[in-house]
Amino acid sequence: MPLIIDSHQDIAWNMLTYGRDYTRSVHVTRRLEAGTATPDRNGDCLVGWPEYQRGQVAVVFSTLFASPARKQEVGDALLYADYETAHRLYRSQIDVYRRLVDSHPDKFRIVSTVGELDSVIEHWSRPVPEDREAGHPVGLVYLMEGADGIRSPGELAEWYELGLRIIGLSWAGTRYAGGTSEPGPLSEDGRQLLAAMADYNFILDLSHMDEAAAYESLDRYEGPVIATHSNCAALMQGSETNRHLPDRVIRGLVERDGVIGLIPLNSFLKVGWLRTNGSRREEVPLDTFIAHVDHVCQLAGDANHAGIGSDFDGGFGLQSIPPELDTIADLQLVASRLSALGYKEADAANILGGNWLRFLRKHLPA
Ligand SMILES: [Zn+2]
Repeated sequence: MPLIIDSHQDIAWNMLTYGRDYTRSVHVTRRLEAGTATPDRNGDCLVGWPEYQRGQVAVVFSTLFASPARKQEVGDALLYADYETAHRLYRSQIDVYRRLVDSHPDKFRIVSTVGELDSVIEHWSRPVPEDREAGHPVGLVYLMEGADGIRSPGELAEWYELGLRIIGLSWAGTRYAGGTSEPGPLSEDGRQLLAAMADYNFILDLSHMDEAAAYESLDRYEGPVIATHSNCAALMQGSETNRHLPDRVIRGLVERDGVIGLIPLNSFLKVGWLRTNGSRREEVPLDTFIAHVDHVCQLAGDANHAGIGSDFDGGFGLQSIPPELDTIADLQLVASRLSALGYKEADAANILGGNWLRFLRKHLPA
């Protein structure tokens, strides 16, 4: 079974907003949350450490995320109306991850260097211990989703020191760039932030950026560029959102040797699918997701630029993903679906984790 590297999960946000304990299995969390408001608001949980073990999920890009107060519908716990608050909320999530790692060093490790990455990957090549409680550590790579937590470019040194390696400028629009539902280009602050980010070789995440800002960033940013959780606009014709990646942005990412993490979220796979409108999971089979993976590979002309960015538990859950998937562990099914389409085993393994591994080895500091 190939290792999975998942390029987007809102771990700290869920811990703080819903009190989720990701050392527990998905099924324990679902049982504990049954009858509470959480499954209605965030869907049934999809992620837990035992499922990481079962699905061989070795590394997760774990977000620092808070939402602007004007987008209150997302959940009320982590909202900011000013940049000081944004900074505090983002910073507090570093503390959440540190506490998680300190209390469970056998289960989770922060990954901010190639050495730390390779040590996690090496652990996964060892035989599974007999003790059911033991297993392999999951590496967490910090990813800041929406850069309003960065008060000024001068603060990047501090964030880098904390271990942050990946920054997306937008979620909704930020003062740095146009974003989801709030289109617009890079701002002058955004251009300055990019110039400063390049000094540290921060990895730039284009997901959530409006097309104008993303396209300019491809041209302008001198460091590595990726999209951690986005699908293909070409397969979502008729959709009104600017959340999906146009082909020219995908091609630009490929030219820059970036990787794109695709999301198995039904509303990002079928135009008009909405849990809140009573849409059913069965309407969006897993092959609809595979089509997005294949689209990136067709544009690239190889299987070296597609990955999985599940975004699991990020505002949705079991009710909103293809019916073949019950937990994060089932992402291994993606490999067999790709094989059925004629993908070589090595290509499928690259899409599950190998492409992100290669990318991280190239761009994390030694
Ligand atoms: Zn997101």
